[in-house]
Amino acid sequence: MANEVRFELAVLGAGPAGLAAALRASRRGLRVLVLGKPRRSHAGFGESLSPGARSVLQELGAWSGFEAGGHLPCPGYLHSWGSSELSHHSFTTDPRGHAWHLDRPRFEAGLARDASEAGAVIATVRASPHLSPGQQQGSTWRIDYNRRDGTAYALAGTIIDASGPGARWAHQLGSRRILHAPQFATVARMTSSTGGISERCSLVESTPDGWWYSALLPDSALVLAYFSSQRLSNPARWDRCLRSTIHVRQRVESAGYCLDGRLRTVSACSEHLEPVAGVGWRAAGDAALTHDPIAAHGIMFALLSGRDAADSLIDEAAGQTDAAAQYTRLVTSARERYLKARDQIYSAEQRFADAPYWAARCSRARSRQPLRPVATQ
Ligand SMILES: Cc1cc2nc3c(=O)[nH]c(=O)nc-3n(C[C@H](O)[C@H](O)[C@H](O)COP(=O)(O)OP(=O)(O)OC[C@H]3O[C@@H](n4cnc5c(N)ncnc54)[C@H](O)[C@@H]3O)c2cc1C
Repeated sequence: MANEVRFELAVLGAGPAGLAAALRASRRGLRVLVLGKPRRSHAGFGESLSPGARSVLQELGAWSGFEAGGHLPCPGYLHSWGSSELSHHSFTTDPRGHAWHLDRPRFEAGLARDASEAGAVIATVRASPHLSPGQQQGSTWRIDYNRRDGTAYALAGTIIDASGPGARWAHQLGSRRILHAPQFATVARMTSSTGGISERCSLVESTPDGWWYSALLPDSALVLAYFSSQRLSNPARWDRCLRSTIHVRQRVESAGYCLDGRLRTVSACSEHLEPVAGVGWRAAGDAALTHDPIAAHGIMFALLSGRDAADSLIDEAAGQTDAAAQYTRLVTSARERYLKARDQIYSAEQRFADAPYWAARCSRARSRQPLRPVATQ
């Protein structure tokens, strides 16, 4: 089967960035196509969303869907960083309220529902859609793709690459990724037969070879993520690393948590794309700038840059010739803020400064002096 449809915007990727872009553009009257591949068993990484997300979701018209999503309020975080003692950061004094532990599939389903209701067409593709220059008048791009019921093609005036770190279309257009720091995350889902812990604060703990993150998921499972320079898929080795922690271990043992399923090892490096924009196209979210998860800012950036990429293409279509350059400046200044904040966080841990994982991060932080306090959230 083959059909042809014309769109003003085609978006690659149905994650937070792609869906935010689709929502924004649809609400502003554009005919939008979103092409997304189903994730491979993606229950999320136990991501948290910062208090600042409320205003962006409200602005996108996605707040009531988010509120109904069953996400778990996160009142703050506990951290053992620079000291073996545990410190507490509470959101109770934050005028924007608390953060959230996301139910990631429901978060994306809610955004997708809102985007469809706003008029976006969301198609699930089986393989990477193929991008080529459009031949017909008014269509800059032609996109060929495979759906479950056959092949199709679309003609689009503009495109957004929101396909995550793979940045598929941007690569095809000649962009390249600049790696800041390689890192892997080993993610474990843990369940307890005794009901688990009631502490809703997330927990971060540094160790000589990396750092651990732990948070409750809305379904009451506990997620543990270990960030280090190594791909750690062997449960026995992972368990040895876990036993070298103080607070994460205590949390796991206090409620008899056991590993539920397999360990997942994923890349968690910090990277950016150059260029992120050109005439008729933008990259947004992780495709444009992949944050180190220590910043807990990747999803916020995905929502913000998705929104801004859509606005920027609308401005360009209305005749603003420097819209791509303006969008590039927005992303560049977000990157600068993020890198300063990230370096500041890493340089606050000096106990392991000679260990390879920390030496790489602390020396980078020193070379970027002077550091000023910068909030990414
Ligand atoms: C271990 C870990 C922990 C993290 N913790 C946090 C946290 O606590 N807080 C936070 O804010 N962020 C966190 N992040 C980062 C966060 O997950 C990302 O920043 C966020 O998902 C980026 O959203 P996105 O829409 O840009 O990309 P993605 O979420 O990657 O979405 C891209 C979408 O595009 C699809 N796609 C890819 N290629 C194609 C293709 N060729 N064709 C069609 N579709 C395609 C993918 O299937 C996916 O659905 C964490 C990341 C990791 C790895």
